[in-house]
Amino acid sequence: MADRYLHLTGTAPGRFLTRRLGLPQPAPLRRWTLETPHLDGPLLHLTAGTSAVTGVAEALMTSGLTVTERADRPAAIVLDATGVATAAGLGDVHAALHPVVRSLAPGGRIVVLGTVPSPDDHHQAAAQQALEGFVRSLGKEIGRGSTVQLVRIPVARIPGGASAHAAGSTLRFLLSPRSAYVSGQVIELTSAAPESGSAPTPITDPAAPLTGRTALVTGAARGIGAAVASVLARDGARVIALDVPEAREELERTADRLGATALPLDITAPDAADRIAAAAPDGLGVLVHNAGITRDRRLANMPADRWASVIEVNLDSVLRTTDELLKAGTITRGGRIVATASIAGIAGNTGQTNYAASKAGIIGLVRSLGPRAAAEHGVTVNAVAPGFIETKMTAAVPLFIREAGRRMNSLSQGGLPVDVAEAVAWFAQPDSTAVNGQVLRVCGQSLLGA
Ligand code: NAD
Repeated sequence: MADRYLHLTGTAPGRFLTRRLGLPQPAPLRRWTLETPHLDGPLLHLTAGTSAVTGVAEALMTSGLTVTERADRPAAIVLDATGVATAAGLGDVHAALHPVVRSLAPGGRIVVLGTVPSPDDHHQAAAQQALEGFVRSLGKEIGRGSTVQLVRIPVARIPGGASAHAAGSTLRFLLSPRSAYVSGQVIELTSAAPESGSAPTPITDPAAPLTGRTALVTGAARGIGAAVASVLARDGARVIALDVPEAREELERTADRLGATALPLDITAPDAADRIAAAAPDGLGVLVHNAGITRDRRLANMPADRWASVIEVNLDSVLRTTDELLKAGTITRGGRIVATASIAGIAGNTGQTNYAASKAGIIGLVRSLGPRAAAEHGVTVNAVAPGFIETKMTAAVPLFIREAGRRMNSLSQGGLPVDVAEAVAWFAQPDSTAVNGQVLRVCGQSLLGA
């Protein structure tokens, strides 16, 4: 379903009219392409006070941008605020960004680096938590298709002090066109658990970082799942695309297009995990739980079967297959599990008690299982929480609610399936070991649940 309003505001008369009426002005977002893989301009590296971590400059180099300490028109600004530990120190954040924020190029990126608020030092905790409010507010006011995020670098458990080394894959993603529809997010990196024996795997081929890995994507015939399959294939993975047998034709078309293997299978089947394991005899490096359904009704009108089917597809089958595939060792060490939540699971939504419960359940799953799966299996577990994404699912939403969903976010537009897929691919990177138990909203900083 085309976003006609976005086209209208892209024309001179449309822009004039909508400005006069005080209506939202969505900026067209630039996504990743082979020809333009990077942002267009330098990266301005600033520090508020004294940095508390080492290796920031090295981590920034992985972005592919020219890193500088002075730039007239930066495409990205990274503010190292890891050393901000007092309320007075917050003045350094203002002093660093206030003079340069206006110079950020359209479609630019601001990333603030912080550390985890300390349970033992309430002054440090206050100052570091303050960065969250700061980033979320700047995301709402910056406009012109630019985005703002906070990345927390772990301080504990690293011999020789904290290092930004583990932030490489995260900065590469956030400082690129791949994160076009991600804004106002807080990402908390973990120190790669030494006991897991899964230190970040260096990437040998940057153009195809998933080479040698098999990725299985559920619900891959169409929509977000098809985009995830496509992006993982682009990144070099061998892809197995799974969808219900009724969608076999569409599934085979998608799989053929990507050089993937089609696996027609209902993920709720009792033997689903066994059939997945049989389809991946060398194991799975990436498992993406994307299949999902809605059966909306207000609770008072919702029969038990509508409740049960949504919980079964969106949550129970995810729990069951994850447990069975981990136990069987099908997901190999260094593996990645990515599940699909939703902002409905964070904010709630009228008519979606079943759906929101299932998606909030996914958030509980990744937060609880992530640390244990890393320690026991060397596997990370994360989730994407899409906001309004242009797919068949959202095309079925009534017009007025659809239009509200599209505009009620900082970027004033819906996202595309590829935006969610790029976030999944970031979780899947071999050097994303420090990204675990996280839920990344891909929602343009939706006002729902903000
Ligand atoms: P979609 O309906 O276009 O695609 C979902 C796919 O999952 C379909 O191909 C369907 O056949 C498949 N599927 C459903 N039940 C299955 C089962 N039992 N076994 C195997 N496959 C099954 O939906 P979409 O918009 O692409 O959404 C993908 C995921 O993203 C879902 O989990 C959805 O809840 C979530 N999500 C979507 C949005 C959005 O705006 N589109 C927002 C938040 C979350």
